Amino acid sequence: MKLIERLQADFGQFLFILGDENRWSPEEKTIFYVEDDVASLLHELGHALLEHKKFVQDVELLHIERDAWEKAREIGVKYGLKIDDEQVEKAMDGYRDWLHFRSICPVCDQNGVQEHSSGRYRCLNCDTVWNANDARKTALRRYKHKLA
Ligand SMILES: [Zn+2]
Ligand SMILES: [Zn+2]
Repeated sequence: MKLIERLQADFGQFLFILGDENRWSPEEKTIFYVEDDVASLLHELGHALLEHKKFVQDVELLHIERDAWEKAREIGVKYGLKIDDEQVEKAMDGYRDWLHFRSICPVCDQNGVQEHSSGRYRCLNCDTVWNANDARKTALRRYKHKLA
């Protein structure tokens, strides 16, 4: 039986749909996955099992990503799949790069600070306020290009 069929049978509370990126959608209870990237598929399943939703504060992101990778390892053991440490560390570096990228002021290139409740950024140098929440996918694509 193919892995995806086993996962779908074992985790029937979620839908597994072949897509063009790896993504967990809490609203749709759906895991989108790409072919030939088992580690990322298990990582997204990790997010799903840990009931991760949208995050507001950047510091949360690194925690939930780390937790999802730990969960992916646990699931992998059950299915006889080993997740490569190097892939995990590369992914963690990618999230850090992305967080750095979105904290940079679009006007003057200084580092901004994130407001606690809204998740928006404010530049202490020029007072520009920006919201970088939506740039995530783009940055992850950039990260993927860098690997290739
Ligand atoms: Zn993740
Ligand atoms: Zn600025």
